[in-house]
Amino acid sequence: MIRSVSTTVLLLGLILFASATSAAQLFAPKEGLYYVKQFGDVKFHVYASPIAAGASASVVIETKNSLILQDVQQNKPQMDELKTLIQSIGKPLRRIYISHDHSHHWAGLELLPGVPAYANQATIDFMKQKGEAELQALKNQFGSQAIPYSKVVVPGNVLQAGSGEVIDGLRFVFSSPAPELTGPVVFMEFPDQKVMITHHLAYVGVHVPLPPVEARLAKLNEMRTKDWAWVIGGHGVPVPGPEYFSKTIDYYTTLGKVIKESPDVATAKDKMMKAYPSYGGVVLLDLLLPGFYPQ
Ligand SMILES: [Zn+2]
Ligand SMILES: [Zn+2]
Repeated sequence: MIRSVSTTVLLLGLILFASATSAAQLFAPKEGLYYVKQFGDVKFHVYASPIAAGASASVVIETKNSLILQDVQQNKPQMDELKTLIQSIGKPLRRIYISHDHSHHWAGLELLPGVPAYANQATIDFMKQKGEAELQALKNQFGSQAIPYSKVVVPGNVLQAGSGEVIDGLRFVFSSPAPELTGPVVFMEFPDQKVMITHHLAYVGVHVPLPPVEARLAKLNEMRTKDWAWVIGGHGVPVPGPEYFSKTIDYYTTLGKVIKESPDVATAKDKMMKAYPSYGGVVLLDLLLPGFYPQ
């Protein structure tokens, strides 16, 4: 009797141990990309849609007892994988922060119900006024299987740029260091980990050529003087700070030259693709390069 009880306890213990270790290690996405980096007892998990699709990032920040998230995904297959990542970590998701009004960062919110969501006033206003039309446009473009959402979930809490928060011992600040270049987007800075999440500034691994080139280069050169350990762009590949600034400054220096030397959009696109053959988001060259050639 005693033996069988202890055997049962031992077996139960082994099963629990096996499931605990596998849950934390099993996340291996098929639809998107996954990067993870640990700083002390804080872990930054970055899940992104495929590079070709623009590598739109959702950042799950894991503290000792809980999770916070910046930005969800647009299409359901990526939302499902993001939810799998969250479940595999096995801690409660306490907050969702939406960085800005572009629908690929908020469309899937409906699939994470019951979690308090936050955004700045500009994002909330846009979602209230134009969200439904945006969602319909996504359904038309990607189909109702990829975009099965029935409504726009407007964040109920307003974020102020410059404000900060401490959750579970983790300090973070909502900043917007270059609104003249990025529009009203929310960056997140983690001063103790020296980690920053940026939007609409400059990206690594994807083409997002944003004007104006000179002002952007000046801002990047100014911001690189802070020693960031890891910079997570809202799109593309997260990299150590020095790499983020050297690669984005290289990209915008090249872009400036290419625009100057190219008589038209097609030539400029060709040169940018040759200069950065591994970069995704080629469709954004088509969308954004015409902005550098005013009629
Ligand atoms: Zn955007
Ligand atoms: Zn975006």
